[in-house]
Amino acid sequence: MTVHVVGAGLAGLSAAVSLLDAGIDVRVHEAAPVPGGRCRSYHDPQLDRRIDTGTHLLLGANVEALAYLRRLDALDRVLEVAPAAYPFFDLASGRRWTVRPTPCGLVSAFRPVALAALNTEPGEASWGVMASVFGRLIGERACRPWIARTGIGDALIDPAVQRLGDRLACGRRLTGLAIDKARVRTLIFGEESLDLSLGDRVILAVPPFAAAAVMPTLIVPTEFRAIVNAHFRVSRRTPLPRLVGLTGGLAQWALWREDVVSATVSAADLLLADAPETLIDRFWPEMAAAFELDESRPIGRIVKERRATIAATPEMERLRPAARTALANLMLAGDWIRTGLPGTLEGAVRSGTAAMRLALA
Ligand SMILES: Cc1cc2nc3c(=O)[nH]c(=O)nc-3n(C[C@H](O)[C@H](O)[C@H](O)COP(=O)(O)OP(=O)(O)OC[C@H]3O[C@@H](n4cnc5c(N)ncnc54)[C@H](O)[C@@H]3O)c2cc1C
Repeated sequence: MTVHVVGAGLAGLSAAVSLLDAGIDVRVHEAAPVPGGRCRSYHDPQLDRRIDTGTHLLLGANVEALAYLRRLDALDRVLEVAPAAYPFFDLASGRRWTVRPTPCGLVSAFRPVALAALNTEPGEASWGVMASVFGRLIGERACRPWIARTGIGDALIDPAVQRLGDRLACGRRLTGLAIDKARVRTLIFGEESLDLSLGDRVILAVPPFAAAAVMPTLIVPTEFRAIVNAHFRVSRRTPLPRLVGLTGGLAQWALWREDVVSATVSAADLLLADAPETLIDRFWPEMAAAFELDESRPIGRIVKERRATIAATPEMERLRPAARTALANLMLAGDWIRTGLPGTLEGAVRSGTAAMRLALA
């Protein structure tokens, strides 16, 4: 049996690595020239530094993502902040305080935490998804921040890519499926076709719009929320990554890693129309204040991820499909599958593991 995983984002990679560990022959087909999807680090020529698609934060509560890192022997690529503590800074008043994982502390940081986890304004978010996030934040360990030491792709993607070796092929976009008697018979990659053997399985780990393109009858979430990041290359280096929650301004989180400072705004659709220069001018004073950086505005880079995650609204929750499909040998994976979690790294890994179990069943 060969399991074909389509899509080398975190969901596809976590499924593929688990299958490999179970001794299964696995092939991963990725459309982009590089793997990682939305969870990528790449060299930005403007900054001449490696940056992430956007600041990514893991929590101690993300047990499946941490288990995935452990399986890849890559846990040391992520810094665990213990005991759990979140420095906060109010940009309007200049007040600083630290949020600790007490019920009171969590209530005071509710909005920034909810925005980061749901990428949706709390007022329009599904109660069910919100409860699944906050229900897991019980106890000090669960609330610990885990921050990639050098980059999210370095931590979560590169070790899996190494493990897979030539089982992963990039530049292979799935364009169609040939179906016969409720089974996928052939995977179509443009001009090329790959016929499946009887026992073969397919895990479709692509975003919802890409899954619907090859399975037009599939019902998928159709609304997304943006995340906007601003990255600045600064003159000082920090020995360890530093994360600060922000209130009273535009940025919601600030991360200083090595000599790059990054601002993050979730549920950022209103910023999509703003010119990069305008955003750079707005973000830099906030970053300088958050980290007390006394330098004139350095080179900046704006990264707008329009479809960063699906909207965590009740309407979109109803459209999230299960991993099992009507086709006997095809399973779905991705952070948008019905995992009980919002579109997050933890949700992506959980979906990959669930699809892997179905493939083996
Ligand atoms: C800016 C930003 C910040 C974020 N911050 C956080 C955070 O702090 N914490 C957190 O938990 N989560 C965060 N997330 C969400 C997290 O990145 C995602 O939940 C996760 O990466 C989704 O992984 P995935 O594998 O489900 O999807 P994707 O990463 O989208 O992977 C899908 C893959 O399929 C490929 N593909 C598409 N079509 C085809 C095709 N036809 N054939 C073959 N391959 C195809 C794509 O190229 C891609 O590589 C953030 C996301 C963004 C964008």
